[in-house]
Amino acid sequence: MGSKAKWVYAFGEGDGSNKLLLGGKGANLCEMTRIGLPVPPGFVVTTEACLAYLKEGRLPEGLMDEVRTNLAAVEKAVGRRFGAAHDPLLVSVRSGSAISMPGMMDTILNLGLNEKTLVGLIEATRNPRFGWDAYRRMIQLFGKVALGVPDEPFDRAMTLLKKEAGVQQDVDLSAEHLQALSRRFLDVVREQTGQPFPDDPWQQLETAIAAVFRSWNGRRAIDYRRQFKITPQMANGTAANICTMVFGNMGADSGTGVGFTRNPGTGERAVYGEYLTNAQGEDVVAGIRTPKPIAAMAQEMPSLHSQLMDLAAKLESHYREVQDFEFTIERGRLWALQTRSGKMNAQAMVRTSVEMEREGLIDRRRALLRVPPEMLEQLLVPRLDPAFKGQPLATGLPASPGAASGMIVFDADTAELRGRAGEKVILVREETKPEDIHGFFAAQGVLTSRGGKTSHAAVVARGMGKPCVSGAESIVVDVHERVAQVGPAVLKEGQIITIDGSTGAVYFGEVPTVEVEFSHDMATLLAWADEVARLGVRANADAPNDAQRAREYGAQGIGLCRTERMFNQIDRLPIMQDMILADTREERIAALERLRPIQTEDFRGIFKAMDGLPVTIRLLDPPMHEFLPTAAQLELEIAHLRHFRETVDAMREAPETLKLLNPRLHHQYQESMGPVVATLTEFRDKHLEDPVINRKTDTLKKVKSLSEVNPMLGHRGVRLGITYPEIYEMQIRAILNAAADCVREGVDVQPEIMVPQLATVEELKRIKSYVDRIHAEVERSSGVKVPYKFGSMIEVVRACLRAARLAETAEFFSFGTNDLTQATFSFSREDAENKFLPSYYEAGILRDNPFEVLDEKGVGELMKLAIGAGRGRRPELKVGICGEHGGDPTSIRFCHHAGLNYVSCSGPRVPIARLAAAHAKLREAEYLAAE
Ligand code: ADP
Ligand code: MG
Ligand code: MG
Repeated sequence: MGSKAKWVYAFGEGDGSNKLLLGGKGANLCEMTRIGLPVPPGFVVTTEACLAYLKEGRLPEGLMDEVRTNLAAVEKAVGRRFGAAHDPLLVSVRSGSAISMPGMMDTILNLGLNEKTLVGLIEATRNPRFGWDAYRRMIQLFGKVALGVPDEPFDRAMTLLKKEAGVQQDVDLSAEHLQALSRRFLDVVREQTGQPFPDDPWQQLETAIAAVFRSWNGRRAIDYRRQFKITPQMANGTAANICTMVFGNMGADSGTGVGFTRNPGTGERAVYGEYLTNAQGEDVVAGIRTPKPIAAMAQEMPSLHSQLMDLAAKLESHYREVQDFEFTIERGRLWALQTRSGKMNAQAMVRTSVEMEREGLIDRRRALLRVPPEMLEQLLVPRLDPAFKGQPLATGLPASPGAASGMIVFDADTAELRGRAGEKVILVREETKPEDIHGFFAAQGVLTSRGGKTSHAAVVARGMGKPCVSGAESIVVDVHERVAQVGPAVLKEGQIITIDGSTGAVYFGEVPTVEVEFSHDMATLLAWADEVARLGVRANADAPNDAQRAREYGAQGIGLCRTERMFNQIDRLPIMQDMILADTREERIAALERLRPIQTEDFRGIFKAMDGLPVTIRLLDPPMHEFLPTAAQLELEIAHLRHFRETVDAMREAPETLKLLNPRLHHQYQESMGPVVATLTEFRDKHLEDPVINRKTDTLKKVKSLSEVNPMLGHRGVRLGITYPEIYEMQIRAILNAAADCVREGVDVQPEIMVPQLATVEELKRIKSYVDRIHAEVERSSGVKVPYKFGSMIEVVRACLRAARLAETAEFFSFGTNDLTQATFSFSREDAENKFLPSYYEAGILRDNPFEVLDEKGVGELMKLAIGAGRGRRPELKVGICGEHGGDPTSIRFCHHAGLNYVSCSGPRVPIARLAAAHAKLREAEYLAAE
């Protein structure tokens, strides 16, 4: 190292903005000192010194000299001397890194005490009890932190002493008791370490600094950093803050407490916190006595209360942020010991943002940027009552946020039945399928024992804004017995459970929840966000009521309406199945004609809900077999029906058979069996089961013929539209007719017809020709002009590469990043998430799940390529993204920079996306600098 390193900064000297070097606590102690707040004198030993210590295994050369110089300055300022026999200076040695890690690292108080300085302390305070108490605390804390002595022998000595003294609580111990205890504690240290307790204050100080540094690599601290993804760029090493001790336990005019400049639970502008008189800082945290609310201080110590209010006001006006601070009052004098930005819940964050902006404390930019978009989720879904403290019955994945209670049902039909009867139900399944969709509509929430955060259940529930817990593997669902086993417990259909899709917890019984509140403050903040953002936000919505809700969340249109969701409803599915099972084109068209009015009605509802805003409708996408039961299911049902037929036959023959066995029995039962046999014969002759068996056999044949090796890469999307034009034609007609109706009614409709799974230009042109033809027909028959746009989903790699030509026909692109990600990685999503992605994160091959956070380097490059080529051919080309990434703030930021016009996400994520879009705009410079 060339120039001499500087390891130590006095509080009056350090740069309050340099948290990386000084740690958060140290930087703020410097800052508070600089602006004239009452901080006990002290200095910071830097995080660089910590890193040097951890590397070399000893404190760097020259460090202790700097410590001595700085401590001399402190001695001068307070007029007391470290290690002196009269009125000695005591200090604390406190840890603190750039990112706050509450309780993860260590602090030692009352450093500098030994038998000699203790006498001086007692003499100066005229308080032997206080002196001995400080001493025994110091021995234990130093013993534990610096010398590695466990708490247990200290606690044992304490318990023993209390028994001998016949007292219950620590505070009942006299000075003599505490003196005896200190002696025992010294013995504990000697026994445990084989060394006497270090008497020399300087040795104590040096050892303590090293111990604080080591705590950076303590087990707790390492785990914490891993859990909260704290990288060395964010915080590297801890500082050691040496701070003059001030005592809150010197009588009734002393005390200690913690405060927030505003209420962290509600955001209300009122100092909030607690204090204890005659106590030390750690007592508040340890809960030894019940602290009083800060408001009570106005009566108890009015002049200190007003000093405290003054301190809070100064902190806020300086930091321009809600502060969370520690203070101590020593004999009527207030000291500030720590401050940091207050951690608040979402409600408080939103409210303080709006209010601080109005007060002129912060500008709009700051008001928006200080609220992390994801945080809004807390306000958009019902939550469990925060006061609830129960143990979960089982835990799965937090698949769709929000909490809900209801009775267990094991299948979608029952869910619908009970739901219609006005009952609250939770659909509990091993996993869900598209044909369960009506159960989702009826249920309050969904619980599955298998599947990840992107399983069918999770994706559909998120789309509907309903809570979902997926993959709760400890629950064994038995649909046939209609029970679910969780360890020794058995849950029956009809029993009440509560699921919390924000945490993955499942509880027995009904847990009270707190409802959603889309507050006035949130509306204000989001309106500011919309003013700033360049990127628009739309919602994915498949039904009129979803569209209505999306609008309430502030969606600027619908970016994805999945028409197949409409076919899955219970009254429509059979018609859809007729269509699929049709042997001829005529039969198929007949079924489609029955579906058309239903679809038209749905579109009309959606258009009306979105009056004045664009609605992007995707033509049928999934493979047809998704609308049919599985082969296994059908085989089972056919077997049951055949068995039933045989049973009826056997019963009919029962009387004759009985005769063979025992004529007397036959005689006895003949009378009663007669009518039964007659009914069965009649029943048998009607052959009621035959058509059912036939239909199921036909379906089975069809299911087998539709079965594909890779359905997701198979006969679906535009491929269906090409091979069965009548399906797409029906949908296009329904869209345009609904639009024509709306035009006549004066509704401003902006339909956008979107083709899925497109790979070639020719496919797009074919579908466009259907649209042109039908559009002309509709305009002719309705007599009104029907506006519409035509575009393509971009979710196939080849489509990205052919974007320029596609843009000749397509007026808009919408990236389907779920499929595009699968195609780019050649990962099938379910397999990836369930099998190998976790080990990829572990091994550091991938940092994020590419199905949750858009892969900018791969998928993102393809998108940029397609956008560039498409806009090159058609400059006004509108580009959006549907797909799960549209609601993810990191991905939204990328979309902003890639020049998309809008993102589309599930309704409840719209507010999050709106705020994220504003953040992307406000942080443009940062992003570009990092590029
Ligand atoms: P943490 O980061 O765990 O809050 P701190 O370093 O803030 O640790 O200290 C723990 C407790 O000791 C706090 O209550 C703090 O207020 C108190 N404390 C620390 N230094 C001093 C001091 N110099 N004088 C009085 N109390 C102190
Ligand atoms: Mg603290
Ligand atoms: Mg897709």
